[in-house]
Amino acid sequence: MNFELVTSFPLDDSLGYVEVRNPANTDEVVGLYPKIGPAAVDLAVNAALNAQPSWSALSASQRAEILVATAVDLDAVTSELEELLVREQGKVRWEATFELAFFEATTAVLADLAHHLDEPEVVVDDGMGRITMHHEPFGVVGIITPWNYPFAIPAIKVLPALLAGNAVVLVVSPSAPLTSLVGYRILAARLPDGLLTVLTGEGPSVGQRLVEHPDVSKISFTGSTATGRTIARTASSRLKSVVLELGGNDAAVVLDDCELDEGLFENLVTGAFMTTGQVCFAIKRLYVPSGSVDRVAEGIESVLNTFVIGNGLDDGTSMGPLHCRSQRDKVVELVADAKAEGGQVRECGTLAGDPEKGWFLLPSIVTGLDNKARLVQEEQFGPSLPILGYDTLDEAIALANDTEFGLCSSVWTSDEDRGARTARRLEAGTTFVNSHGLFSIDARAPFGGVKQSGIGRELGLPGLLAFCEPHVISTRHL
Ligand code: NAD
Repeated sequence: MNFELVTSFPLDDSLGYVEVRNPANTDEVVGLYPKIGPAAVDLAVNAALNAQPSWSALSASQRAEILVATAVDLDAVTSELEELLVREQGKVRWEATFELAFFEATTAVLADLAHHLDEPEVVVDDGMGRITMHHEPFGVVGIITPWNYPFAIPAIKVLPALLAGNAVVLVVSPSAPLTSLVGYRILAARLPDGLLTVLTGEGPSVGQRLVEHPDVSKISFTGSTATGRTIARTASSRLKSVVLELGGNDAAVVLDDCELDEGLFENLVTGAFMTTGQVCFAIKRLYVPSGSVDRVAEGIESVLNTFVIGNGLDDGTSMGPLHCRSQRDKVVELVADAKAEGGQVRECGTLAGDPEKGWFLLPSIVTGLDNKARLVQEEQFGPSLPILGYDTLDEAIALANDTEFGLCSSVWTSDEDRGARTARRLEAGTTFVNSHGLFSIDARAPFGGVKQSGIGRELGLPGLLAFCEPHVISTRHL
């Protein structure tokens, strides 16, 4: 089946089409989309420039109404989108349901925040005049997103960018673009022609043109730290404002007062293995008191042994394949390296999918590693969790902070106050106490990383204001 890009202009069709294959069965072509080059970005930016003034002339509350109405339109096609998302990304159906729900949750929070844009903030009003701060749109915003949450990650960027009065050119991941091409067409249909364009392209050329384009004033990117660095370099030549949501290597620290029960093990497994471990803020390293390493490893193993690894559309599947060959190869390599370093690897669960046809891999836990091992220091972005012991809380904090990343982290304890105090010592954009992962995200709170995990925040009021330029108006007399 052919999918069209979301554009208000005709595309050059001489370049052919690109196939999207199912990660659970690579014989299956899920769909094709038109191949494009950087010239399509120029057309999209032109269309955006023409459409943006009429959109920004509306109040933010009027714009919010249109976004909320789109969430209702999407409800009608949810089950079609869920199936498409599973087939192109590889996740299981309930994860696809969860992902699609982000759109509506984001619009609901944004509708509550719209008044911040309609009413200027009074900074000074003291009898000598007033200083007010208004939130103006940038104009054209460029958004670039990855394959792991290929529909939700665009939502948490595109919706606030539009609410702020911007036009958007969105470049979705070339290996999982189809759900977005269908879903964001529904949003584009409610907007002025050309206000939202959705493109995708193999290789970096399309995204790179967007970052370079002189009429794109803001870039919001989610993806790997390596690509984030390239984008920051390119954007800096025009002093372009960027938000970068990059890789993570989240630590979870189980304190010595924590109850080691089945509930804990299930929560840790969800935090580490949801979406086959391909979540930027999945638990990627687990620290437990030295005397509890075996007990925690056994508890996690027994939960993982109930897992069936197969096609996400099959009843009874608990975990899908990795999204692509390179991602599976990377995890296999890191686990082999861990074994060579003396780590004890426990493979768990039952394989239902064919690893010759899909990118399936049994989940594993690894003990006996040093904190410097590659599986501990690198972002595995897959279903293998190292578990390490510590002797004192200071040591646990030092081990957890011994990373270039700083996206999220968590503390697990029966004493929430102690948990919150310990949380402040971890270097991260968000630290959860007694939870970790996608279920813990709340669109009212800002999200983003420190260190090499990113620059800036999305979600919440800071995430909305990231798509605005403050404009100060002063009427104070001399
Ligand atoms: P990636 O960096 O390879 O690609 C992301 C997007 O950037 C793709 O759409 C790609 O086409 C585009 N791109 C590639 N090179 C480019 C360039 N030079 N200029 C402009 N655009 C370019 O990432 P991925 O493999 O798709 O996703 C996995 C990574 O994303 C992991 O590291 C993960 O941690 C990270 N991630 C982070 C978050 C977060 O919120 N911090 C969320 C999800 C994923």
